[in-house]
Amino acid sequence: MIAEIIAAGSEMLTPYRQDTNSLYLTEGLNDLGVTVAFKTIVGDNLEHLTNAARIAIARADIVLFSGGLGPTEDDLTREAAAAALGRSLRRDNALLVDLAKRFAARRMTMPSNNLRQTDIIDGATILNNANGSAPGQYLDVTIDGERKIVILLPGPPKELKPLFTDVVVPMLAKSLPPRYLAKRMLRMALIPESQVDARTAPIYQQYPDVETTILAGSAEIQLHFFCAKPTAEEAQDRIDELSGRIEQEMGDSIFSSNGESLEEIVLLHLGMRHLSLAVAESCTGGLLSERLTSVPNSSTAFSGGVVVYNEQMKSAFADVPPELFERHGAVSPQVARALAEGIRARANTSLGIGITGLAGPAGGTGADALKPIGLVYIALSEGEDTQVKEFQINGDRDRVRFWATQHALEFIRQ
Ligand code: ATP
Ligand code: MG
Repeated sequence: MIAEIIAAGSEMLTPYRQDTNSLYLTEGLNDLGVTVAFKTIVGDNLEHLTNAARIAIARADIVLFSGGLGPTEDDLTREAAAAALGRSLRRDNALLVDLAKRFAARRMTMPSNNLRQTDIIDGATILNNANGSAPGQYLDVTIDGERKIVILLPGPPKELKPLFTDVVVPMLAKSLPPRYLAKRMLRMALIPESQVDARTAPIYQQYPDVETTILAGSAEIQLHFFCAKPTAEEAQDRIDELSGRIEQEMGDSIFSSNGESLEEIVLLHLGMRHLSLAVAESCTGGLLSERLTSVPNSSTAFSGGVVVYNEQMKSAFADVPPELFERHGAVSPQVARALAEGIRARANTSLGIGITGLAGPAGGTGADALKPIGLVYIALSEGEDTQVKEFQINGDRDRVRFWATQHALEFIRQ
């Protein structure tokens, strides 16, 4: 079963308005096991809207229209859908009486234009709109031997959402074959999308019944799996089998398979091993601490952090020996190591992290003058040992800072 959503409204073809209704509709359709295969945005033009409706009805099983059910001249969805279906419009008497009552209750005379809102496509079920004057319409018809469901919904989100969820979804659920869904998201950090695809495509291509999407997020890649089957067990089995094989292929690169963020996973790992962590951040300015403390209950593993931006602060709050700056520069493996060891000793934690780097756009000074922008050193002090890693991160200041925190979290996780 595939669906198409047609969002009607010229405003969504300007730079100022977006079609957000279709996101809401897509979520509800997916939950019914229906895939949205097409979305079309059409301006308020009868010919364009009718053409779009014809194409949609030909290529999709379910067509949902959003908007264009109001009383004004540019509200053309009823006419376009009727023309595409080859059906006529009839004025519904009961609706007419209702609408007249609404106006009378407000002591207003009804403009004749409003009569158009009572035009119903022949054979349609009227969907009562509790939040507005334009009713929705629902048709379940056979065209050239194929079953087509065509649904007209009002554009204002506060009308469309309840009408769809409370009225349309139960109607669809009743009339479609039962489908059960299983979903899973695998998340990987610091690995290029092309590499993920090259390694996983040969596996997921063997599962055409599972919809697979690769999404590149900020410093991470997500693999989304979605499967609809006649029974919940079948759907879950397929997802489990596929994600099991992908997990085997990608191994430790996958940091989460149940939706957790990298910071959540790191805190979980620390908690399980009864370890505590303190951090000394220079170029990331507290971003690592912010990410860790955004997780509820992070205090069980995260003791705290200091932002030590200039040399004086690095020495005063993380005990970095001042001579290191002159000899190696603040952006050096030696200073990263001193930061990690210094903060760990001060905070009396099992782990210490030190981060120092050049976030740009201005370059370093003194002993750092010739170092490239994006150069970051991260040190992890644990037990008797301190490891230091060097990274060269491309991009602007925000990117360098975020990726530095991502590398630090991965350093701790692995
Ligand atoms: P009305 O009776 O208000 O005219 P309508 O069914 O004709 O209702 P539209 O005129 O298409 O709907 O849209 C009314 C308002 O709803 C728009 O101004 C816009 O703010 C919002 N809207 C319409 N379509 C969408 C959409 N796809 N996504 C988000 N908002 C929308
Ligand atoms: Mg309108």
